[in-house]
Amino acid sequence: MSSGEAEAKALDAADPGHRELFDVPPAEGGRYPEVAYFAGNSLGLRPKATRAELLEDLDAWATLGVEGHLDAARPWLPYHSLLTEPAARLVGALPSETVVMNSLTVNLHLLMVSFYRPSADRFKIVIEDSAFPSDSYAVRSQARFHGYSPDEAIVRLAPRPGESVLRTEDVVERISGSDVALVLLGGVNYLTGELMDIPGITAAGRAAGAIVGWDLAHAAGNVPLSLHDWDVDFAAWCSYKYLNSGPGSLAGAFVHERHLGASLQRFEGWWSTEQGSRFEMAPESRPPATADAWQVSNPPIFAMSPVRTSLELFDKVGIAVLRERSLRLTAYLERLLADLTPSRPLQVITPSDPSRRGAQLSLRISGSLRAGELAKTLRFEHGVIADAREPDVLRLAPVPLYSQYHDCWRAAEALAQAVPESA
Ligand SMILES: *Cc1c(COP(=O)(O)O)cnc(C)c1O
Repeated sequence: MSSGEAEAKALDAADPGHRELFDVPPAEGGRYPEVAYFAGNSLGLRPKATRAELLEDLDAWATLGVEGHLDAARPWLPYHSLLTEPAARLVGALPSETVVMNSLTVNLHLLMVSFYRPSADRFKIVIEDSAFPSDSYAVRSQARFHGYSPDEAIVRLAPRPGESVLRTEDVVERISGSDVALVLLGGVNYLTGELMDIPGITAAGRAAGAIVGWDLAHAAGNVPLSLHDWDVDFAAWCSYKYLNSGPGSLAGAFVHERHLGASLQRFEGWWSTEQGSRFEMAPESRPPATADAWQVSNPPIFAMSPVRTSLELFDKVGIAVLRERSLRLTAYLERLLADLTPSRPLQVITPSDPSRRGAQLSLRISGSLRAGELAKTLRFEHGVIADAREPDVLRLAPVPLYSQYHDCWRAAEALAQAVPESA
């Protein structure tokens, strides 16, 4: 064993995380029994408890039929409310401000129905130029829906020439224009891993008269959040990335207390009405003064079950403790990468300031090597699962719940072998 590998092993012994609670995919050959998994920002690994708890919910259907709505050990009618408090704790919200429902982009649309209310002189939506495509398509279609040309309505914020990430001061300057109706940014950018100044940008946007919403797909379960105290207007996040709730699993939504019970536009269904009035079958809804009013349909219990299991785990460990380990683990990976990038066509584009990033380091590859090719080499020759965003970005997420220092060491070793030194 090299001294580098021995160091990684010693760090794991001293700072072990919670890998034993997760199923880590087997490596199928090679030196190590398991893959080194760095794609938890794309699809988090399965907690071991998920299978058994999902089967309990599934079997309630077999033994109870329709009566499971009330008589299951975890009754289906109020099932979503089991998720509300732990989800609220995770994002720093009041339970009344939080609901788990639908998927992320659907929630963004439902929230924009309420919060994108353009007028002739204030109709712009500000997003990042490196926004996830779904967010881009969502805001463009919202602009079109309201009769505006997307190219005119959507403002895309790009880094300064020669830079890879946004500067807070540039964001603040642009969102302070009187033409901005809505600011909708990623809390942690999916591509660069940049953690935005959520409280600062929110305050600036709101002071200028805009609504400020956040897509927290890469922030929830990654960094501590205080949505209520930060006065965020609304937010949404998915649960299959850092929240380990399974492919395509349900999303969260946050609506600040000051908007609850207000006469905002909403698209409604039978789950929008107060729980007690749901079976009155009345022609008009009586929405509660909580984020539950944004629900539309009765929720998929078997998709909610893994979210419940996962949120319990976050409650047990605590996001503050996870963040501490995340800072140590990411700093370690950063140090290993710093040893190999200067002599190779690789550059870390994620901010080096730990307070400006979460558990992700993105590498930009220059020259002829494509990110997808490199990811394949890492996967099939080294058992390292990383995420490629074509043409030139490779993303590595050391996830504090289950990633190990040894995984980081394997990733750095694999990169050193897979990427030739520049001449
Ligand atoms: C992962 C991700 C999505 C995915 O949207 P779905 O509706 O869950 O398919 C959207 N936006 C961002 C920023 C993401 O990172």
